[in-house]
Amino acid sequence: MKITRIFAHRVELPLVEGDYKWSGGKSVSVFDSTIVGVETDSGLVGYGEVCPLGPFYLPAYAEGVRAGLRELGPHLIGYDPRELLKLNHRMDAALKGHAYVKSGIDIACWDLLGKATGLPVCVLMGGRFGEKVRLYRAISQESPEQMAAKVANYREQGYTRFQLKVGGDPDLDIERIHAVRGMLLPSDRLVADANTGWTQHEAMRVVRAVRSVDVYIEQPCLTYEECLAVRRNTDHPFVLDENIDSLDMLLRAKSDLAMDVVNLKISKLGGLTRTKQARDLCVSMGIAMTLEDSWGGDITTAAISHLAHSTPEEYRFTSTDFNSYVTVSTAEGAPQRVNGFMQASDLPGLGITPKMNVLGKVLVDVS
Ligand code: MG
Repeated sequence: MKITRIFAHRVELPLVEGDYKWSGGKSVSVFDSTIVGVETDSGLVGYGEVCPLGPFYLPAYAEGVRAGLRELGPHLIGYDPRELLKLNHRMDAALKGHAYVKSGIDIACWDLLGKATGLPVCVLMGGRFGEKVRLYRAISQESPEQMAAKVANYREQGYTRFQLKVGGDPDLDIERIHAVRGMLLPSDRLVADANTGWTQHEAMRVVRAVRSVDVYIEQPCLTYEECLAVRRNTDHPFVLDENIDSLDMLLRAKSDLAMDVVNLKISKLGGLTRTKQARDLCVSMGIAMTLEDSWGGDITTAAISHLAHSTPEEYRFTSTDFNSYVTVSTAEGAPQRVNGFMQASDLPGLGITPKMNVLGKVLVDVS
């Protein structure tokens, strides 16, 4: 089987809530997502998706995905999409860095491997663990009262894991954490994700002020060293996200005992192949994970479901169902949340069929 064509569509994904706000006043109201197709001489086509969280979250932006595909695509024509490590080796040789550009192609090639073998991606990634995947809900940064009201609403819908977007004014963030934790059950899990938004002294004030509260602290500061300093001065369970963008950083953080949970995002690491490497290493090292991506719609959610479902349950901290945050559905067969859980499809590949009438015109076409 050989790759004969790589193409991409741009899809706008408006938010059900109108907008999504997080640290430092960052906000997005319509996500710009790229649906990547990889066509082969067998007639099979695989699909992937890359959707940065705006241009100011990770070093990634939506138009960069498309520009990168135009650069990278010609180097992959003629390669066998089922030979995933070889394909990634080729991508790394042709384009240094830009993990997020490679992610969509890699996901599409896993979809092809599944379609070619008749197996769901989760089986190919190690096997289906358990019945279902537990989800968290990210709570956009609002007033403490509004965030508590949103958590109450999403709790009603079955979620038991919540990630508060903090990283704003530290005094208000302290109120946000207290307000939300006060209305949860002891069995619910609460994460305060600052998304790099606090300086070190601000982070120290917050963790001291919520000392008695059952809350996880995620990525408080911009640099790894600042986060490590905070980590060493608090007994809250600690999550690293933005700083862990490679196996090097994962191993360094493990060696420093810098985290209890790590957030692995598919496009941050460069696709399912690279994320599987990090995931398998975390399982071997006993580190639990949030398994997800930056953002996306149906295809991203399907990819997350296969990554999470193929991870032993005791190491799955949470995942998320981005397709329920947005108003546009881009594919049939994507996982649908039921009572705060989702399942990976039993169908071959990712188990999704893109809705071509939603995808719009082709913006990248390499053959
Ligand atoms: Mg995070």
